[in-house]
Amino acid sequence: MALEIRSIKGTQDVLPSDTYKWQFVERLFLDTAKLYGFNEIRIPTFEDKSLFIRSVGDTTDVVQKEMYTFTDLGGRELALRPEGTAGINRAVIESGLINEALPVKLCYDISCFRAEKPQAGRFREFHQLGMELFGSHSPAADAEVIAFVSDFFNTLGLTNISLEINSIGCPNCRKNYHAALKEYFEARKADLCDTCLTRLDKNPLRILDCKSPVCKEIAKDAPIGLDYLCDECREHFEGLKKRLDALGIAYTVNPRIVRGLDYYTKTVFEFVSGDIGAQSTVCGGGRYDGLIKSLGGADQPGIGYAMGIERLLMVLEAQGIQIPKPSPCDLYIASMGENASVFAMKLASDLRNEGFAAESDLIGRSLKAQMKYADKIDAKYSMVIGDDELAAGKAKVKNMATGETHELDLNGDLSKFFYDQELAELSDSFGTGNISPEALNDLLR
Ligand code: ATP
Ligand code: MG
Repeated sequence: MALEIRSIKGTQDVLPSDTYKWQFVERLFLDTAKLYGFNEIRIPTFEDKSLFIRSVGDTTDVVQKEMYTFTDLGGRELALRPEGTAGINRAVIESGLINEALPVKLCYDISCFRAEKPQAGRFREFHQLGMELFGSHSPAADAEVIAFVSDFFNTLGLTNISLEINSIGCPNCRKNYHAALKEYFEARKADLCDTCLTRLDKNPLRILDCKSPVCKEIAKDAPIGLDYLCDECREHFEGLKKRLDALGIAYTVNPRIVRGLDYYTKTVFEFVSGDIGAQSTVCGGGRYDGLIKSLGGADQPGIGYAMGIERLLMVLEAQGIQIPKPSPCDLYIASMGENASVFAMKLASDLRNEGFAAESDLIGRSLKAQMKYADKIDAKYSMVIGDDELAAGKAKVKNMATGETHELDLNGDLSKFFYDQELAELSDSFGTGNISPEALNDLLR
């Protein structure tokens, strides 16, 4: 029978053959974040639609074309979150966190939803790892979050990723810049797409972010924001560059980066990979000094970024970076007969209590089928329990790779054998100065 209901276009299942990669990246991210003093926040998947309209901006592609909105049974206008910053800003205001010890440093690991055309690196449900830092006007805060991303990418062993930075100024200097942009695009109005025509009056900066090839071509020669920065914004940008230089973080200034969300002020940045084709921005972020206040909170600045997990995994794959595979089952305990089955189950339970991965037969299959399964799941060791073993209180444990066997006392400390094997494996890899992915995973476990 054919499957009648299929997954929705632009969504994906992550199967166990891949989940370990997600878990590794997510855990490394959250652990590294802790070293920088960023703790995880979890926010709802859907919010009041107007939260996104007010923060992301009603002239952005995200709000105009990509948001999943719906009316619930209570008549509320809601939206699935297209990004995390809006919800986190709401949460820090609502919880009062923004009035406590500053800076507030948060990180997150969330799913996001955008009704975009699915293609390589672009999904309708995707996932972001990100950070928000609230309460600092200093470029030190900008440098800190950028340094984190750079550090995280280095730990993963990524190369060929470039950091591009820009400043789009504050509302003060943006007035002049907007006027210059308006004049420039007004003169080329005839060729702009319909969406950009509406942006011309409301928010000409958004035209620079339009995906239409014609608008892109026109935007190429548009005035550059950096030329219009006020003294404070210029100083801030210099302060950021000075810190990145001091930290040894390479960057290029790309005056064309404006980012696709309205709340940004001053610093904007992207990490771009040379290995994953057109959707090459792995991470994007910037400063949003007016957002908290505009949502009804204190007048506190913020800075943050988000990176797409799907794109990050694409880069890892493209660069041939192996993520340590989870260590397979340490011991598969095959059994013959009811008594042996009960004993095997208890043995597996005891071993798990000692931190080893153990499995026993749950289907009641033949010994041959059980051993085939042990092979399939890549068990490191196997053991067969039958009436003889039960009577003798001894059983042979077999190394599945070498075929080597050891007789073990079933009533003794079975876990000692596995500790010894693990230690030997670890010292072997330390001896060669080369820790295997499995051993590394054991260490992390
Ligand atoms: P793009 O230029 O690719 O449209 P964006 O500017 O819309 O990206 P942001 O809103 O800044 O992206 O989101 C931050 C990151 O989230 C992106 O750099 C990307 O890695 C990831 N991302 C955004 N949209 C998608 C999507 N539809 N599918 C997968 N990942 C995405
Ligand atoms: Mg986009």
